[in-house]
This record gives sequence, structure tokens and C-alpha cells, in this order.
Amino acid sequence: MTSPRLAETSEVVAQTRMPRVEIDLDALKANWRTLDALNGRGRTGAAVKADGYGLGAARVSAALYDAGCRDFFVAWVEEGVALRRALAAGDRNDARIYVLQGLEIGAVPACLATRLVPVLSSLADVAAWGEGVERAGRRAPAALQFETGMNRLGLDAAALPIVKAAEAGGTLDVALVMTHLASADEENGQSAEQRALFLRFAAEFPQAERSLANSAGCFLGPGYGCDLTRPGIALYGGWAGALSHGRLRPVATLTAAVLQVRTVKAGEAAGYGAAAELSRDTRIATVGLGYADGYLRAASGAGVPLREGRPGATAFIAGQHVPVLGRVSMDLTLLDVTDVPADLVEPGTRAEFFGPNVPIDDVADAAGTIAYELLTGLGPRVRRVGR
Ligand SMILES: *Cc1c(COP(=O)(O)O)cnc(C)c1O
Repeated sequence: MTSPRLAETSEVVAQTRMPRVEIDLDALKANWRTLDALNGRGRTGAAVKADGYGLGAARVSAALYDAGCRDFFVAWVEEGVALRRALAAGDRNDARIYVLQGLEIGAVPACLATRLVPVLSSLADVAAWGEGVERAGRRAPAALQFETGMNRLGLDAAALPIVKAAEAGGTLDVALVMTHLASADEENGQSAEQRALFLRFAAEFPQAERSLANSAGCFLGPGYGCDLTRPGIALYGGWAGALSHGRLRPVATLTAAVLQVRTVKAGEAAGYGAAAELSRDTRIATVGLGYADGYLRAASGAGVPLREGRPGATAFIAGQHVPVLGRVSMDLTLLDVTDVPADLVEPGTRAEFFGPNVPIDDVADAAGTIAYELLTGLGPRVRRVGR
């Protein structure tokens, strides 16, 4: 989200050349339906943590709700409270919102007031929830997360007797049991092991719904869908394992505008550190996008020794793919537009840095990272525009 101060300034100044990410809400909904169709009778939820993977949790959740999604996953209680408010403002009141990141006792009243379902992942979480609901004199559903091999968050087998006792004592209503797949997008056999272990845990809570699959897990076959899936990156058009290839539409298009164009002689250099040495006369377009906007410095141009052995990133301008030149700087990136007809690139021309023409996963590869990091790292100056 744009910070309030920036939004105010921007309204007054009316700049059109700032970086922008366009969010194709129809593609988002289509991706949700694609995933939903993979899961037979099970429901398909949505991970909208980290502000909807950087695209605006309120906007993407409303669109997904309208596509039929009723189960939303956030990391923190504060994210859940904000999401409840945003959904309620559009009369979307029957959404279930789960908070993945465990629970502090001080957050229980907010959970109860806004009907958040905490995902309890430790005995401390279970105790905090029990104490909180007792104090409030209320009962409310909770979810349990079990540890099945990722060794990140989750209850293990030794916790079962205590959890069962809390359930029997009436302070714990287990609505959902879940675990998280560590390798759903890889073929190392771990998913099958995790699934088997998860089903053993789940058998202890026969009345509870089951949730296992993240995005890549949705593609692993019917045994993984269970009652509810939790896709994130696939909704937003990112790679979700080899089985997702060609089945998801790009959702986010990052564009930025050319500020200047200049021709530079062979033998000169461009950018910080003179890192790009020009082997030919080169037309350079300077674009208003940089690492402060989340366009990573590690995506700098070929020859810049920031990533061993990877080509630099490319952008798409005037119908052509062009290389990033030299080092990406804080607010600016250089493109080599020598091969684009001169009259097609001028100040104000927008270049695509990822989107339908530049797969976000290619940019991520060039920067040595993953699409998740590019999306969630989009900076506050990047305008989010839904369409
Ligand atoms: C982030 C997250 C998801 C979604 O993962 P994707 O790989 O984006 O589909 C699902 N479940 C849990 C527990 C998560 O933390």
C-alpha cells in the first residue's frame, strides 16, 4: 500500500511517470478457478499474507471473494483485523480468516472481536488461546498446525495428549487441522512423507477439516487437496512447480517510464562503477524504477558481477525485449534500446519489467531469487492499480 504521506503528495503533484504495478483481477480470479477445479469437492482458499503478496490484500481478497473464495490466510493478527474490516466494507462478511503465525495472548480479544481463526502451532499457542477464550467467556473455532518435516512451525506428536485434553476441557474447538509442505514444487519424495504423517495427526481430530496444500501442492493430485487448499503464489501467476507450467495467467505487470534517452559512444561506460562497458555505440533509455521500488539490484545487466553465471534481466519496450544495462540503482535503471527504432522510445514511454511479456519468474531467476520475493518486495512508491 502507498503510505498516506506519499499518496497525499502524489495527488497534488500528479506525476504519471512513477512506477506502477497493474493487477489483472480477471486473471487472478481465473487462476483461483483453475486451482479450484483441481480440488474436486474440497474448497480452495487463498494466502493473502504480506498485503496480498504485495498487490494489496483488500483488493485481491475482494476479487477472490467474488470468484467464490471464502477462506483467507494471513500471517499476523493485525493483517487479519485489517482484512476483516476491508471485507466488511464490501459486505463480504462470511469470509473465514485464518492467522498462520501463532498467537500471543494479547491478541485473543482482537481475534474474537473480528472472528479470526488462529492457527495454533505450539503448546504455548494452545495455552494462550485457552486462557484468552476463558477470560472472554467465549468459545470460538481454532486451527491446529502440525509439524511433519519442515521444522518451521507446528505441534508435534508429543503435544497430542495436551491438545486432546484442552479439547476435552472445552477451551479448544478444533475446526481445521493443517500442515505445510516443504517441497511441493520439487520431486524429492518429501511431500508423500509429509502427507502420510499429516493424515495420522488428522485422524486424531475426525470432526475437523483438513488442509495440506499450498500452490504447488494443489497440482500434486487429489490426495493433496483435502477439505481446503491454501494457494498463494499460483493465484498471483508465479511458478508453482513443473506441473503448473502453462496453467496460470500472469497477474501483476510492473511498468516504469523512460525519463531520458541518450546515445553513447562505444568504449564509454554506463551506470555506477562504470560496470557496463559499451562495446558498440549504444542508445540508453534511463527508466524511473530502481531497487527502492523492489526492482532488485541483483537483476542488474549482463557483465555486472553481482550474480555469477546468470544473464541480466530484460525489459519489454515498444514491442521488443531489451537488456538491462549496468547496475540497477536506487531510483533508476538503464535499458539498452539500441535495437529499438529511435522514434518508439522517448521520455514517457513505459517499459514492462515483468508481466505478460516478461515472465516474473525469469526476472526472479536473473536476480537469483523467486517471484514471491519480487512481489512482496514491491516498494511503497509503486502504484498498485487494479483492472
Ligand atoms: C505462505 C503459505 C501458503 C501459501 O504458499 P504458496 O507457496 O504461496 O502457495 C500456504 N500455507 C502456509 C502455511 C503458508 O505460510
